[in-house]
Amino acid sequence: MCGIIGVSSYDECATELFLGMNALQHRGQDAAGIVTFSDHFRLVKGNGLVSQVFTAENLAGLPGRCGLGHVRYATQGTLEPSMAQPFYMNYPFGIAMVHNGNVDNSAELARWLHDEQYRLIETTNDLELILYAFASELERKPLPTIGIEDVFDAVGAVQRRVQGAFAVIALIAGKGLLGFRDPYGIRPLFLGRRSEAGRTAWAFASETSCLEMLGYTIDRELAAGEAVMIDTAGQVHTRPAAVTRKHAFCVFEYIYFAREDSTFNGILVADARETMGRRLAARFRERGLMPDVVIDVPASASFFAQGLAEELGVPYRQGFVKNKYVGRSFIKPTQAERSRTVRLKLNPIQSVVQGKKVAVVDDSIVRGTTSKRIVELLRKAGATAIYCVSAAPPLRFPCVYGIDMSVKTELIAGMMSLEEVAAFIGADELIYQTLEDVEACFPGTGLCAACFSGTYPTGISPESIDRIERERLAAKKAG
Ligand code: 5GP
Ligand code: MG
Repeated sequence: MCGIIGVSSYDECATELFLGMNALQHRGQDAAGIVTFSDHFRLVKGNGLVSQVFTAENLAGLPGRCGLGHVRYATQGTLEPSMAQPFYMNYPFGIAMVHNGNVDNSAELARWLHDEQYRLIETTNDLELILYAFASELERKPLPTIGIEDVFDAVGAVQRRVQGAFAVIALIAGKGLLGFRDPYGIRPLFLGRRSEAGRTAWAFASETSCLEMLGYTIDRELAAGEAVMIDTAGQVHTRPAAVTRKHAFCVFEYIYFAREDSTFNGILVADARETMGRRLAARFRERGLMPDVVIDVPASASFFAQGLAEELGVPYRQGFVKNKYVGRSFIKPTQAERSRTVRLKLNPIQSVVQGKKVAVVDDSIVRGTTSKRIVELLRKAGATAIYCVSAAPPLRFPCVYGIDMSVKTELIAGMMSLEEVAAFIGADELIYQTLEDVEACFPGTGLCAACFSGTYPTGISPESIDRIERERLAAKKAG
């Protein structure tokens, strides 16, 4: 997963991109990059957090009122710094680009670009494929007189050619700033507007919270497949999807990925989580279970836990302290390192759990590393019964659209029965959300829930799913 931002302002934009990327940092901590344009493209990118990659000095070397920013969470490709986004090319016009998502048909696209468009593919980053595909389509237009409609035609051609999940922002030198989504609307993209003393700045970003923090009001959530272009005079042009598909917004944005203060499809993430939490109460009643206290695995599960506790009529408490300064456990390469990081990251608050039946809620169970550790910690701290709760249904199928769950064998619920998962984790009870309950929380919103159901909206072939898995394993090994 990744976070993207693009700004077309009346002022220098590098600092704003930097601040916006900080507000998107939860979407990717592997690498960060900014490209700005004023006569030339200037690019700074590297591995690490936004605050590690950027300094006052290198930001000062990024002049221009138009630019793009990207935070990377590698779900595809290696961790070499050259894989960090943005990418740019100088023909036609000069095009810089960032994207969030994963391409399904990368092998086929790479072949077309190489064999028929005579382009040399230099990285394994999907962005290169999208960028070259867009450039190839744009090149076919009458370049001396090119207009916005031609740009939108090229976007339509890309949407037909590139299969998968992609939210894209592109900066076309001398033409404007362009944003578009895949026809399924799997990955999010918003347009914000900020006016000051008669001047207006526009920005695209992955989440509403990012735009709001920069002082933008949300102009629109791009519809599935929609393209929007801000021209150099600051005028907004839009084109609906070239290809219409059933809306399939990634449900994991609501469950884990996005910030609680972001809104998608008119639904605030915090509210969605609270509602999902409330739905879990039925699972407790079915089994005749009543905890003394509900706690959460910080920091992504607190709204689920609050909803559940309220519905059950028992207190919600903070049962763990999370050390914010320890890196992420989820991406550590070995199981031993992941377990150690969870231990260093979370410590129970004894008085909250001692002598109590404790329901502990996490957003999801992927490999089971976190839950297993948490059960051990709670037992040691004196909990008399531990009910492990996953606010997400069993994750059984790999994600091929950009969440880092593309390896089947890493999904414990895909490899074991739920009884075996409960035994592995060591919980007295293991409670999962049902997919029906998740879907009931989003009436009228088309969702991608392929990780739970195995139904992939883009109709990706089993061979491609296997290939994505193999590539992910190889990239993880390469580091
Ligand atoms: P597990 O420990 O079972 O392998 O993973 C579940 C834990 O990892 C949960 O606490 C959840 O918040 C977190 N998690 C789930 N999905 C992702 C993801 O895609 N990336 C990261 N970094 N963490 C995740
Ligand atoms: Mg977590």
